Amino acid sequence: MKGFHQEKLGLSRRTFGASPYADIAEAHPISPSMALRSTDILTQTPQGLYCPLGDFHIDPVRPVKRALITHGHSDHARSGHRAVLATRETLRIMAVRYGEDFAESTQEASLGESMTLGDVTVCFTPAGHVLGSAQITIEAGGTRVVVSGDYKRAEDPTCLPYEVVPCDVFITEATFGLPVFRHPDTRDEVRKLLDSAALFPERTHIVGAYALGKAQRVMALLREEGYDKPIYLHGAMERLTEFYKSEGIPLGETPKVVASERSKLGGAIVICPPPSIQDLWSRRFPDPVTCFASGWMRVRARARQKGVELPLVISDHSDWDDLCRTIGDTGAGEVWVTHGQEDALVHWCTTHGIKARPLHMLGYGDEGEVEEAPQAGGEA
Ligand SMILES: [Zn+2]
Repeated sequence: MKGFHQEKLGLSRRTFGASPYADIAEAHPISPSMALRSTDILTQTPQGLYCPLGDFHIDPVRPVKRALITHGHSDHARSGHRAVLATRETLRIMAVRYGEDFAESTQEASLGESMTLGDVTVCFTPAGHVLGSAQITIEAGGTRVVVSGDYKRAEDPTCLPYEVVPCDVFITEATFGLPVFRHPDTRDEVRKLLDSAALFPERTHIVGAYALGKAQRVMALLREEGYDKPIYLHGAMERLTEFYKSEGIPLGETPKVVASERSKLGGAIVICPPPSIQDLWSRRFPDPVTCFASGWMRVRARARQKGVELPLVISDHSDWDDLCRTIGDTGAGEVWVTHGQEDALVHWCTTHGIKARPLHMLGYGDEGEVEEAPQAGGEA
């Protein structure tokens, strides 16, 4: 059966022998008359990517009957769906952000375990983006589609590393999909912060970082570099940081900033949401050094424009090299690019003999790094 479909679909270069879904696929054969195209498995709808054979959406931007969620960032994980299937950590993050009743029903997806939904099998695999983040593999009739969500290949002490899933169709983001984006070693970036803190012991270093993932990664990286003083948090960081700690991620002492004591925090490192680095909240600290941890800080003009004194190029997304490398690693013959700098990546695929198309999907990146840069004139 599989051989038939592979041949018919021109997929002979893929090896399905090791597929964890082999038994299930044999138990639910799809008629040989039904040659599956990638678009039979996944299509684009106003709500987002939809699998008609399994009757579910992935990371829908509007409320749907059944949603599979790749990770907890709010542009991917929205509230109001009837049923949600996601990793345990992503479900917990959604509960922290939206309350326990964020969906009518929830189901936990165990990493690496396949399950049957309608006429397809699905499997969640680590994406290396934030705690609990996963790629979602959909397989039917011998065709395997991987929806990567957001992902990165760089080391991150706060989440499981990305795992390559060989597939026929790879669906990728392209937030940093231009050759100019090459992320440096994060350890060097964190050392810049520590060097600055040592050089200006009277000043408060205020680091803008996205509340889910980036903030905790910066804290963990500081600890890895031996920084053992308290890391002060803006109130908006508190609950998700507590959640990371409860999951066994060592972040050390992270007291919340008490408004009346800001003037006493000279020499401290404080982490806050990106917009707060420019508002009145941060100006009450002693002679603050404004820092911002984002892949966008690679663009120095952007850092200057936003009034960032110490840009830290730390990203939870793949840079150009890793996007290209990952596409190659999956062995996919077809690539769909969901959002970001789609055209450059599509062009790269085409020149490397890989069929590719941009999806121009709207609604993603709203709370990702795209919009992380503080707004000009964001004075509170
Ligand atoms: Zn994300």
